Amino acid sequence: DAVDKDANVEDTEPRAPIVTIMGHVDHGKTSLLDYIRRARVAAGEAGGITQHIGAYSVEMKDGPNKGKKITFLDTPGHEAFTAMRARGAKVTDVVIVVVAADDSVMPQTREAINHAQNAGVPIVFAINKIDKPGANPAKIREDLSKENILVESWGGKYQEQEVSAKKGIGIAELLDKVLLEAELLELKANSDRTAIGTVIEASLDKGRGYVATILVQNGTLKVGDIILAGPYFGRVRAMVDDLGNRIKEAGPSTPVQILGLPGAPQAGDKFNIMETEREAREIANKREQIIREQSLRARKHITLEEIGRRKAIGTFHQLNVIVKGDVDGSVEALSDSLLKLSTEEVQVSIIHKGVGQISESDVNLASTADAIIIGFQVRPSNSARKIADQEEIEIRLYSIIYDAINEIRDAMEGLLAPKEEETIVGTIEVREVFKISKIGTIAGCYVTDGSFKRSNKVRVIREGIVIHEGEISALKRFKDDVNEVRTNFECGLSIKGFNDIEVGDTIESYEIKEVKRTL
Ligand code: GDP
Repeated sequence: DAVDKDANVEDTEPRAPIVTIMGHVDHGKTSLLDYIRRARVAAGEAGGITQHIGAYSVEMKDGPNKGKKITFLDTPGHEAFTAMRARGAKVTDVVIVVVAADDSVMPQTREAINHAQNAGVPIVFAINKIDKPGANPAKIREDLSKENILVESWGGKYQEQEVSAKKGIGIAELLDKVLLEAELLELKANSDRTAIGTVIEASLDKGRGYVATILVQNGTLKVGDIILAGPYFGRVRAMVDDLGNRIKEAGPSTPVQILGLPGAPQAGDKFNIMETEREAREIANKREQIIREQSLRARKHITLEEIGRRKAIGTFHQLNVIVKGDVDGSVEALSDSLLKLSTEEVQVSIIHKGVGQISESDVNLASTADAIIIGFQVRPSNSARKIADQEEIEIRLYSIIYDAINEIRDAMEGLLAPKEEETIVGTIEVREVFKISKIGTIAGCYVTDGSFKRSNKVRVIREGIVIHEGEISALKRFKDDVNEVRTNFECGLSIKGFNDIEVGDTIESYEIKEVKRTL
């Protein structure tokens, strides 16, 4: 990770596990989160009033794990988990899957199990509502066994705990089991390094500005740090913990609300600490540009080129591939080598493989699963090719296995994305605005920096926010059309399809050069 300067610093201290609660609707996720949150306050923590900031920490008050902490993501349901995963964020260490003892294993229970298993996150089962007269925990164990989940009391490897989120029964035991699971993971961090972590949620708060809840996953975050999250950066102006206390520092596995970012990054965006604002600005600008470009020409489906782009903004974590080949041997060899390209961050998943021509059904599958199709010594049928064009499914054909592997490895390392560089060539200030009927708005400007060329693209900035991007429709010196105006000269300017220029706006002109890489 280029942005994380301390990526190689060794993790030396144990850190608290981060836990997500999932399960079917009404099985008790919210109740369980609420009970645990309230219990810790009742137990006399400072502050007393819980703040809902999207995550909270609890400390075990007694028992075998006395003094140990657990951090909960305080957003029940699967969206938070999948949204973060979709952005490549690895936040959760252990998942608690809640199943109501008066019900059964339900579709969202299965989904929760699948999500956790796909992410390689251990599960602890909470068999909830055992206070209810109709509760039948044994049936839940049996249901689970039908899903190939054997719980401990049935001789399996999954820990389970009977609980009542309503009455508070079995909760301490459940948390002990979570800690036991966490212990096996040997979670470590180093509070001396610069902070890294993930955005849990962010929003604009009237009065306080942009507020982001972030989870410090490693290192220590301090007030005054220059934080970079997604396309935004700023100095951490203040930090508030989950009990509403103002704090100055936050160590590993701590959720905090921070003030100081000029915008709301997305849940799942990673954050880093930068040494200088200049460096932070540079990366933030680059990310913003990538996001803008991606939204301009986002492809319907993944392509090798798209991988680099998604990767750069952190939305790439799984490459789905369909492999077709001429004979069994080549299909197997290619699939095996592709699977080996998986890294900790990006999983390669062969969702289908087979011998023979690339068919319509291969393309349809690629479309639903957002997959690329790799053909080795085979070709698509005409109809398959047609659908692939319409659906923007990438079909890559090879006759040498080694070439296929190399190209995909390069793509996964972000080497195949077209490289684009933006250069700002000039800046002007808008000093007067003339509205002229039929022609539109003409801005009377002064070039403060660089030069302004008619052919360059422009960006209108008001109070630091880009409000328009487009092209120049006219550039004039007095009455004459000109191609260029240089520093310290005045000019008149109008922008294609944009008449909302105001005095005080800054207009930037820029060039984008694309260095196409050939595959
Ligand atoms: P969620 O949809 O999974 O978040 O489920 P909730 O926490 O909202 O719970 C759904 C319903 O089940 C609510 O009416 C809760 O009061 C009830 N409930 C949750 N846990 C228990 C429990 O342990 N015992 C009983 N009797 N009711 C519970």
